[in-house]
Amino acid sequence: MKFGGTSLRDAAAVRHVATLIADRLGQRPIVVVSAHAGVTDALVRIATEAVDGSPDIDGLEELHAGITADLGIEVEDHSDLFGELRDLCQGITLVSELSRRSKDYVVSFGERLSARTLAATLRATGTDARAFDAFDIGVHSDRAFGRARLLPDEGRIAAALSDFTGVPVVTGFIAKDDRGNITTIGRNGSDLSAAFFGNALDASEIQIWTDVDGVLTADPKIVPGAQPISRMTYDEAAELANAGGKVLHPASLRPAVDKSIPVRVLNTHRSESPGTVIVPEFDEPAAVARCIAHKRHVTLVSVESSSMLAQAGFLARIFAAFEHSNISVDLVSTSEVSVSMTLDNTERLDEAVRELEQFSHVTVERELGMLCVVGHGIRHRMGVPARVFAPLRDAGVSVRMISLGALKVNVSLVVGSDDVDKAVRALHAEFFEGSASG
Ligand code: ASP
Ligand code: MG
Repeated sequence: MKFGGTSLRDAAAVRHVATLIADRLGQRPIVVVSAHAGVTDALVRIATEAVDGSPDIDGLEELHAGITADLGIEVEDHSDLFGELRDLCQGITLVSELSRRSKDYVVSFGERLSARTLAATLRATGTDARAFDAFDIGVHSDRAFGRARLLPDEGRIAAALSDFTGVPVVTGFIAKDDRGNITTIGRNGSDLSAAFFGNALDASEIQIWTDVDGVLTADPKIVPGAQPISRMTYDEAAELANAGGKVLHPASLRPAVDKSIPVRVLNTHRSESPGTVIVPEFDEPAAVARCIAHKRHVTLVSVESSSMLAQAGFLARIFAAFEHSNISVDLVSTSEVSVSMTLDNTERLDEAVRELEQFSHVTVERELGMLCVVGHGIRHRMGVPARVFAPLRDAGVSVRMISLGALKVNVSLVVGSDDVDKAVRALHAEFFEGSASG
């Protein structure tokens, strides 16, 4: 059971999480936590401020003291942890420099504090529980501070927890490298930590407790009637995340995929709703679409060259230009005389364009929107493109580019930024509302 920062944002939330855990003791849960909401951001600020000697640690200590006071518990380790954090920040001030290594060390305190608070809350309400720092139970990583990769577990975690019969509350997000330095695995990394623990311990299910009713058929801010999806495949979830869905990062599913462990996304505040379960595959011949994803701030680059397109190596030269500038290409569509591509990260786009202009004419359009109809059934069904285009035409949306994955599980479209909301609503209505839905 993994609980994110918003699920632990204050004393009431922590107390509620403790009851969710206590209600599931029969399933022998392992609990993985993030820092309380906002704490990791505050620690990043503290680390930076420490360079000039003015980190606001008091504010953070008050926040934690407020939560434990409201819970009516005392967490002995907290004062030691804050002492350690103050010493560390003094060291940073002394050398007037923040290394990536020191920054990870500073940022690690969020999870170490929240794990102890939740374990103490469980104990105070009669559930045997103990906080564990991930690195103390064998979670090792490489030395890439800030985005460390977890190393294979090789049975260490199960061995470390084997003597403990209560509920282990372990820190997400952090590990140690082979020299004993604390590392972090990337922002929002606790989902990956949870999947990693689930894999290491052969969990029957990995539960990601968050603040929505699982994965929805569209962004509820645009489509108020968006419905929770009961089941989807790993591929669909990865496609959804790539297309702008914010629930789970595809990389965080990897350890679950490796052992075919279902991942269930659940709502902490509405625990009675079944959430969404993400599984390797299931039989369901009728489904066409699973959800409508979208993202904004997409850049569309079109490369034209009347003379060269048909020649061997032309596409390779285009992609090489992006590779040299470290830009990853998302959608691609080609015609006789042009290639269009969407990009997410455009920091070094100018460089790529200069290289492309040596052999072609380049047009760049920024701030477009991308929509994606995700669903396994799409590849089994004729007529899906028509079901995509007709409602968009009726809604007055003009489509700038389309990409239909031949093997994959989506239809993707690029539209003007002003048309994103309209287009999402039109597609949602087509695929999920009314008699022809599904
Ligand atoms: N606390 C970390 C962050 O805010 C990790 C996580 O929340 O998953 O990025
Ligand atoms: Mg988080």
